[in-house]
Amino acid sequence: MKVAGYDISYINFGNFRLDGGAMFGSVPKNLWCKLIKVDEENCIPLATRCLVLEGFGKKILVDCGNGTKWDEKRKKIFNIQAKEPNQLGLDPDSVTDLLLTHLHFDHCGGISNSNGGRVYKNAKIWVQKDNLDNAKSPTIREKASYLEENYKVIESGDHFLIEGDKEIFPNIKVHVINGHTKGQQWIEISDNNDTLLYPSDLMPTSRHLQIPYHMGYDMCVDTLLKEKKDFLDYAVNKNALIVFQHDPDVESGRIKKTGEDRFGLE
Ligand SMILES: [Zn+2]
Repeated sequence: MKVAGYDISYINFGNFRLDGGAMFGSVPKNLWCKLIKVDEENCIPLATRCLVLEGFGKKILVDCGNGTKWDEKRKKIFNIQAKEPNQLGLDPDSVTDLLLTHLHFDHCGGISNSNGGRVYKNAKIWVQKDNLDNAKSPTIREKASYLEENYKVIESGDHFLIEGDKEIFPNIKVHVINGHTKGQQWIEISDNNDTLLYPSDLMPTSRHLQIPYHMGYDMCVDTLLKEKKDFLDYAVNKNALIVFQHDPDVESGRIKKTGEDRFGLE
């Protein structure tokens, strides 16, 4: 697929699972269980679908999954089936830039190997400054999601700390949001012809299309709901293609408005 001068492909670094109740916040199970398969431990399967963008002399990877450096205990809890980039046809040395939406482990765990070294040795790492600061001193609630072995490699090599909304590469813009976690960013790849949006945890799966269907992990719900409504209106307006990072089977789709604050997928 080509959008705004970039050859774009999706790469799922491997599925994992999280508690279904936590993934749908205050939505009752008798509603969300109709949308997705739930296992005997009440967990739902989730992908770690990342973007590879090639164009303008760059090969940009957006997020990099859970990574493979997990102990058996945590591997089992989260049923982590992460693969190495090489196993998925991506040479890590060929990546020029690694753009991270935020530093929760399921988005950036692939950044480092078990020796604490960088996996993408030649890549410049891009993340919001606010999010790195947040990762370094998380609240008790987020401590389990921001792991030192991930964020500490960022400053050990080439990196750029983004401050605010910015076009960081030709036709690639980042938009800061703070409801899910402080300093998250969603990604827009667009020109006058077409737009692709990567909402990351603002809308993790296609099952989270309706505004109240958000995660229990979200730090500031009121902020998130407003940001999500703004995002959905923006997506409808641009007739943008949305890529769902965590959806186990729906990779992407375009959104239409079906009523007051109601949305459907095409
Ligand atoms: Zn997250």
